[in-house]
Amino acid sequence: PPVTVKELAETAGIPSNRLIKSLMGLGIMANINYSLEEDTLEEVVEELDLDVTVESGEEEDIEPCSDLKVMTDFEDRDEDYELRPPIVTVMGHVDHGKTTLLDVIRETKVTETEAGGITQHIGAYQVTVEGEKITFIDTPGHEAFTSMRARGAQITDIAILVVAADDGIMPQTVEAINHAQAAEIPMLVAINKIDKPNAQPEQVKQQMTEYGLVPEEWGGKTICVEISALQGENIDELLEMIILQAEIEEIMANPHRPAEGVVIEAELDKGRGPVATVLIKNGTLNVGDNVLAGSVCGRVRAMIDEHGQRIERAGPATPVEILGFSDVPAAGDFLQVLADEQRAREVAAERKEEQLEIRRKADTGVTLEDFYEQVQEGEIQELNLIIKADVQGSLEALRQALKDMSTDEVGINIIHTGVGAITETDVDLASASNAIIIGFNVRPGLNSQQYAEKEKVDIRTYRVIYKTLEDIRDAMEGMLQPEL
Ligand code: GDP
Repeated sequence: PPVTVKELAETAGIPSNRLIKSLMGLGIMANINYSLEEDTLEEVVEELDLDVTVESGEEEDIEPCSDLKVMTDFEDRDEDYELRPPIVTVMGHVDHGKTTLLDVIRETKVTETEAGGITQHIGAYQVTVEGEKITFIDTPGHEAFTSMRARGAQITDIAILVVAADDGIMPQTVEAINHAQAAEIPMLVAINKIDKPNAQPEQVKQQMTEYGLVPEEWGGKTICVEISALQGENIDELLEMIILQAEIEEIMANPHRPAEGVVIEAELDKGRGPVATVLIKNGTLNVGDNVLAGSVCGRVRAMIDEHGQRIERAGPATPVEILGFSDVPAAGDFLQVLADEQRAREVAAERKEEQLEIRRKADTGVTLEDFYEQVQEGEIQELNLIIKADVQGSLEALRQALKDMSTDEVGINIIHTGVGAITETDVDLASASNAIIIGFNVRPGLNSQQYAEKEKVDIRTYRVIYKTLEDIRDAMEGMLQPEL
């Protein structure tokens, strides 16, 4: 509850007029009955270094760890599992209509709230289609998706691949396909811009088959919907197909257990402190829960949904903004609920230590030189490769030759190929998939080079094919000399 200047002065043991003067110094024109809201109060106490502890009004309402028992005694029973809404990411080439699609779905399908709350951009939103819910991640593109995966977090259940019917499959479309396939996420194709006179949806389908995406109507498994995001055409059909795909996937969660989620956005808000948007993957999060995200702990002080409404609990696949973290967690951090605050703190400290350990380990990373050793130690069985080349011809030749080198003991897994320079996205993908990047007659740009060093991704560049193959063979046999 708000506190008056008079009350604050008394508590702090200083004369009111001195406090009023100090407040003026902070730009607050107050009199003795002026009341300070919680946020301002905290700031004032800190700025003026008053000997006062500010207790959150809401926190007073919460019995400390009242549900502690429930959480420790908790049993994750199979029979409590039920279908949960799918979490969907929209991917595709630039300008193919990802943002337009996300916008049209949000505008037409997000149920207007009772209180007429305004839609807030919190990083994800949920729509209801014929009683079924779908959660969309509001940032299109696979960069966010991949950098999250690089941190070990997988939140997407289904990917929508947007392909413009007048443009067809383009480089970033191919990247998106590779990323989704590397993560083993089912893909639905939205052939967009069919309103355009030069739209050629059939040609897009033909191109898709070259990437192993055979449309259903052609006897394949890939659901394909022709839409116009701009005119809102066939959007309902697309949403129905998502529901259908979700049913096939049988995405389950247990709403009766403590929550597990992933941070998708986080920032330090001036008035509210650390704010994180979390997608709940399993369980239910309650106001008052002690939480841990990465190495940041906290206690859920308030939760706000995408309509700006405060909510008390958030079930599976719900995106919520959470207030109450002690610090700003990172996107991609896992969120867990812990039995008590003390334990949350301990684990946070352990996590920090673990992260340091992981970083120390990452310093040695997956390099071609120590690949053999890692195979011997049973740490890996496959060499993941990303190949970039200057022309399609060499790319194909390399791809085929490398594939042929797979043996029973050591497999070669080519997760992405492309014509052109080595980009930061390649590095992200490599980092996420523990891959090595091979550049054939192409080099990384300065940024990608630095990024690769930071992410401990091994980039190898070659000018002749036989030398490339020789190095890979040596690496597989543990004979490779370090590059000088
Ligand atoms: P993004 O880069 O993939 O997010 O693409 P945008 O959503 O920003 O769309 C790029 C451009 O294509 C914008 O000018 C959109 O208005 C336009 N666009 C998107 N969808 C359609 C569509 O269905 N039909 C037509 N004609 N234009 C579209």
